[in-house]
Formats: sequence, structure tokens, C-alpha cells
Amino acid sequence: MSDRISFGIDLGTTNSLLGFSGSNGVEIFKNPVGHKETLPSCVAFRNGRTIIGEKARELIGKDPGNVFHSFKRKMGTGQTYFVESNTSFVSPIELSALVLKELKNFNFSGLPLTAAVITIPSSFDTLQSNATKEAGYQAGIEEVLLLQEPIAASLAFANKIADREKLEGKWLVYDLGGGTFDVALVEIGDEMRVLDHKGDNYLGGLDFDNLIIEKLIVPYLELKYSIDGLFDKMRNTGGAYNKLYYILQHKAEELKKELSVAETAELEFDFTDESGQLNDEYLNIRRADFEEIVRPKIQGTIDLVDALLKTNNLTAADIRQIVLVGGSTYIPLVRSLLAESIGVEVNNTIDPTTAIAIGAAYFASSKLRSTQVPAANTGTGEEKKKDSQFRIRYSYNKQTSDTDEVLVMLAEGDTAGYFYRVTRKDGGFDTGLIPLKNKNTVILSLLLKARNDFAFEIFDAANNSVYKEPQTIEVEQGTYSVYGQTLPNDICLEVDNVNSQNTRLEAVFAKNNLLPLKRTLTKTFSKTLLKGSSDSVLINMYEGDKFSRPASCIPLGHLQIKGTDLTGDIYRGSDVELIFEISESRDIKVLAYCISSGQEFSDIFKPMARSIDIERLKHEVAELKDDCEGTLNWALASQDYEKAAQHKAYQEELIHLEIELGRITQNDVTDSLYQIEERKRYYSQLFDAQHTQSTSSGFKEYYLSYKNDCRDLIYTRGDAKHKQQFEKIVAEEEKILAAASSYAIQAVINDMGRIVREIRKNDPDFIVQTFESLRSFREECFKDWSLAHKYFQMGERAFEERNYIELKTINNSITVQLKDEYLINDNYTNTGLK
Ligand code: ADP
Ligand code: MG
Repeated sequence: MSDRISFGIDLGTTNSLLGFSGSNGVEIFKNPVGHKETLPSCVAFRNGRTIIGEKARELIGKDPGNVFHSFKRKMGTGQTYFVESNTSFVSPIELSALVLKELKNFNFSGLPLTAAVITIPSSFDTLQSNATKEAGYQAGIEEVLLLQEPIAASLAFANKIADREKLEGKWLVYDLGGGTFDVALVEIGDEMRVLDHKGDNYLGGLDFDNLIIEKLIVPYLELKYSIDGLFDKMRNTGGAYNKLYYILQHKAEELKKELSVAETAELEFDFTDESGQLNDEYLNIRRADFEEIVRPKIQGTIDLVDALLKTNNLTAADIRQIVLVGGSTYIPLVRSLLAESIGVEVNNTIDPTTAIAIGAAYFASSKLRSTQVPAANTGTGEEKKKDSQFRIRYSYNKQTSDTDEVLVMLAEGDTAGYFYRVTRKDGGFDTGLIPLKNKNTVILSLLLKARNDFAFEIFDAANNSVYKEPQTIEVEQGTYSVYGQTLPNDICLEVDNVNSQNTRLEAVFAKNNLLPLKRTLTKTFSKTLLKGSSDSVLINMYEGDKFSRPASCIPLGHLQIKGTDLTGDIYRGSDVELIFEISESRDIKVLAYCISSGQEFSDIFKPMARSIDIERLKHEVAELKDDCEGTLNWALASQDYEKAAQHKAYQEELIHLEIELGRITQNDVTDSLYQIEERKRYYSQLFDAQHTQSTSSGFKEYYLSYKNDCRDLIYTRGDAKHKQQFEKIVAEEEKILAAASSYAIQAVINDMGRIVREIRKNDPDFIVQTFESLRSFREECFKDWSLAHKYFQMGERAFEERNYIELKTINNSITVQLKDEYLINDNYTNTGLK
């Protein structure tokens, strides 16, 4: 039995597929019912039965209250769906798990589907990724590895092309499916890696279907039957035409597909007007009409492709081709606009529907299972090892582009009088019997573009088999491997921004770094937490751009240290080591170590589902509008007309968002709310970047002078470790200053300050100075003066006795007594960490 994961699943918004990589290469399994490769990601609950796939899809128009689709778009949110037939709620994770379970019926490999690679759009954030993994577990897949869809597509593409030289270089993978859009910049060399990507989690074929309804069908009906606000009556669960909306969605999709091959197409449906009269409706729609309404959306994807090239300092000439993936790339306008505007040759040679699953299966074939499966028919590997006097270790490449592979086998124990034999399972290669030594080398001859399975066996002098390797030795020839998956966004911690008296983000892991990642950060508590108190230090984690405001990012969850969990008090100003880990499938783990108390806190990260509050979103959009207007007026006043024009356009879109938002109710069945939230975040990030660029220049000067002061102290008083820490920070300086972000510069200043404090913390001068400055506060500045007074007296005594260690502790106790409003800038506290 294979020790590879072998199964690759494309869990799509619209369609899901199961790929498998076995000794015959990669294949896509077909549905035993109907023999199609695709399973519509659609679930219906009817008469106590659960129906999944094509049959469920056919029911969308008939029974919308009990049929669910496109739930991939809601993964990672707290949203649930109400099932009318059994008056219960079902989550996007549960629905996805049902689709995965159904896919298991496609499995004709003879192997149990207990480990799989499942693909996700590369713009999926950590919450969406975790939700996908959870769906896998719920479907009984014990081991789930996530793979970003553009990598899967690139693997499918690259492994199809025989001539490697034609592949070397940079490529774009453009994936426009039913619900999401992704464009990735991929580099192919000996291996393949995704250099960068952009995407929109709420843009796909589904939006085109909705536009057909909103812009073509609704105006026609409104005019013909004199109805007002028909679209609103369609999109709300309680609306009179909600059912019609689902019926039309299905019909619009069929029409759209027809228009990919024909110039005109017809739409037929029943319409009950407001007087209750049933009418046969018939509409003839031209491709040109369709193109006109979807053009802005498609242009939006092209803008993202442009932006991707720009941020990577590339032009069309640097790109070999743009590879198309996803069902919506069948739309002729997508192809023509791409060819015209990007100027890169468009490649549509791979099947856009199956590419992701094929790539996922290739990836699965290169990944070992973490839990070993017992070998078939030969007992478990464990037993074999116990019986056998031999312990063999192997060394070889599991994937290669060479035509042969060197296999080295190290045998422990007495090998005299024994022989070994390596055979390829198809019979095309056999070493015959070779005397066994402690180190054995064989050159394996490989079948091209296939997985080569080899068996290893040891015989005694009488030719009795004494050892059979339970695991197959597998070498994949001619397939590309992936250099690794990258993180799609910065993962950040929210800490106090002492300077501006609010909070800022600090990157824990940076975008485009290879997963998995591990990092230790030393931070400082900016509040005191007493042992046994009901208080806690709560630190938010965000995903987004580290240079932006927390509001521009997606909240991921939080770290929490509770007073009730403490074995000793934690004082403001004491340091905490935070050890962050993120796996290839984006599980986050955080461990905290409080240096002063010596206490360790394991697994303090608690993820949370995303939820959007309409009122809050309205408020945020209004604020952004004000921001935008401010810049617009300023640009006009300073005659910067280019900037003014740009902000005028932003302002218009924000007004449009505001109007859209005004129309949305809690009963809305579309994804508009999520789409608006995504747009809001886009503008928020844009304005942030502008803001930080304009305020960072003063910070730069401050940083440079602060750095010199620090260097003096560190080189005169610090030890080798301090110098090393300092130089490490300075080595990053150029990058930080180039980013022109006051936040980033502030973070570096804080890091240097921490070294200085570390050096000075036991320094008698510094301790006495701190005591003196605390003494300068008046009585009313303290929460409990009599207590503070007692500490001051103890401090005087410690000072006289020159007991500076004691004085240091007393300083801490006095600081705790200081009222919040007397905390000067440096003591500003909001998040509990700085
Ligand atoms: P997903 O990755 O979301 O599961 P797919 O890559 O399977 O999606 O693409 C599904 C989307 O492609 C749907 O919105 C579907 O309507 C659209 N689509 C499929 N075939 C065509 C076609 N011939 N013309 C236009 N759109 C198509
Ligand atoms: Mg897809």
C-alpha cells in the first residue's frame, strides 16, 4: 500500500472533483451515477433524505428553501443556513463535508480515502482555510493537507508539457471559477513556486448570473408589469419573488453558458405578476448585452492582473504565458479582454474544469502520509521489523526529472551470507540477487512520466526470503514538485502604538513566506495582571497588510492570558516571549513564556469565525468616505489634479457602496455584504498606505538619532548577545525605511528600546532614576496613596542600603499604583502588549 496521500480534491464553489495518483499516473474519478467527473457542490434536504450533486442542483428552482449551493463563499463565517424541511440550521462546513462524503463514492482506487489534499483559493484567509480542513475531518478524512489552487493548476499544466525548456520562467495562472477569482505569478525552474498572487474571494460566474437577473431580466419585468423594487423583492428571504430569484439563477447560468458559444440565447420562465396572473415569459438575449453588463467585473480581474505585475516590477515581456483555469474562462470576453489588455499570450490548452483536481493529485503523490497505513497482505510494518534481524534505511529522491535514480540502502546488522533484490513492480527492472553489504547502491531505471514502484527483498543463502520491505519504494519520474506554499497575507498581532495612543499591527509572519513558519517575538506587557484576578491580557490577531490599520484587516482570533491561570503576578514592563507556529495547512499555534514569572502558557490562540455587522460596516464606509473627501479637497487645494481625479473616483465608488449597503437587510440571500466588506477593506488599505507614507518622514529622522544613542550604549555596556540583536535589527533597516510606514519604524524603535532596557534593567543608576521619577508624582496621582506611601518608605530604605534589586521590585509595585491618567506616553496601554 502506498505511503503517499494519493487523493486530491477540488472542493469548488460550483463543482467538486476527486483526483487520484496511482501507479498509472493521475486520473479523475467519475461519478458512478451518471459518469460525470464533476459533482455539483450542491446539497438538498427533502423528505428526510439528503441529496448531493446533480439531483440537488436540479431542485434549486423547485425547492429553494431546502437546497444549498455556493456555500464555499461563506466558509469561515459564522453564517448558517436554515433548512425548511427539518427546521434546523446547517453550516457551510457541514454542507462541504456532505459534498466530500459524496465524493468518496467516486473512489475506485481500492484504497480508503482517509487522507487527501484539498484545494483552496490562494486568497483564502486562515479562517476560511481552517473551515475547509474542518469539513475534511467531518467527512472522515483524517489527514487533510491544503493546497492553493494556482499551484494545483500550475502542476497540472507543467506536468503536461514534455519540453521543460519551454516551461522555464514566469507564468500567470488566471483562475475565474463560480465564486472566486485568483491570479498567481508562478515561477518554473527545477521546481515550481508561487511568487505572489492577488484575488477576490467574492468574484466569479455566480456574479455574472446575478447580473443577468438584475440588469437584464428585472428591468424588463419591472417595465412590462409596472413593478417597483423587484430585485429587492427577489433577494430577501421573506420577499414575494424570492423563489423566482433561485429559479432565474439557474436559468441565467444556462443562458450564460450558451452565450459562450452562440451569439444569442433564449430564456423562458413563468412569471406571476402582482395581481396573481401567471404569464409565460420569453426573452432573447444577445451576447453583446451580456458582455456589456459583465465587462466591468471582468475588467476588475484584469486590473488585478496588472497590479500583480506592477507590484512585482514586471511587464508583459517578462511573462511566458497566461494559463486559464476555471469554468468562467470559457466566456469569450474574458479571453479577448485578457489578450488585448495584458499583452501576454493566452494559453487555454488545459481543461479548465479538471486542472485543479489533477494538480492536487500530483501534489498528493509527492506527500507522505504522516500516519503510516499498514501494508496490505503482509502484516504491519511494525511486526515485520520485530521479526527481522535487519533494519534498512533508504535514501533516494521521490521525484525526479532524470531517467534513473540512485537508491542507497543502509543495512544494520550482520549481512554476511545474505542477498538482496530490487524489482520494479511492472517487471521492467530487476537487479537479480546481489550480496548484501552494510551500504548498498543500486541505479534504478525509471519509466518516464509515471510513478515507479520498487520492491526490496532479502534472501538467505538457500534463497529463502527473510525480509520484505513493507513500504513500496516510489519514484515519480518527470513530474514537477512544488517548492512550497506561501502565506497569502501578513499575520499580525495588535499591539499598543505608544506614539499615537492607539493600536497598530506588528507582523508575526510576512506575506509570501514559505510555509510552515515558526517565529519567536519578545514583547512587553503594557499592563499588570495579578495572580487570581478575573482580569486577562487579550491580544487580537489579524490577517491582512501589516502596514494598515487593524480595521483594514480580517480578525483571526485572539491570544488570552487569564489572571486565574497565573502562578505569579505579571508586571507592566515585564517581557513575554511569544512563540508562533503556522503549519502548511495554516493551523496557528501560539505559546507564551513570561520571563519574569517563568510561567509557560501553551496554545493560547483561539480562532474565531468571521461575522459582519451591517451597522458597523455602514459606519466604517462613512468614515472612509470622509477620509477620501479630506484628501480630495486637499488635492484640489494643492492643485494635484491627478490625485484629485483618483480620489473623486474612489469617492464615487464609496458612495455607491453606501447606497448598496442601505439596501441590504439581514435577510439578504446574496453575498453582497461580504463583497462590500471586501471592497471596504480594499479602500481602507489604500488610504492607510497613503497616510503612513506621508507621516513617516519625521519618524525616519527620529529613528536615525535614536539608533545612534542605542548603539553607543549597546557597544559600551552590552554583551555579545545585545550587539547581535542590535545588528540584526539594523540589517533590516533599509527594507523598513523603504516601506515608509510609521508603524513599521515605530516597531523597530520599540525593539531597540527593549535591548536598552535589558541592558539597563539591573543598572543601579537606572533603578534609582526610575525611583526618583516616581517620587515626583503627587499624592493624588496614586490609586491608593497609603499603600504607595508605604512602598516609598521601603524604597528609601532599600536605597540607603544600596539594595538595588529590592528597589527594582519596589519600583514595579509603585508603578502599579499609579492612576491610568498619569501614565505618560510610554505607559500607554490598550492591548496589553507593546
Ligand atoms: P468552481 O471553481 O467555482 O467550482 P468552476 O471552475 O467549475 O468553478 O467554474 C464554474 C463556473 O463556471 C460557474 O459559474 C459556471 O456557470 C461557469 N461556466 C462553466 N462553463 C461555462 C461556459 N461554457 N461559459 C461560461 N461560464 C461557464
Ligand atoms: Mg475552482
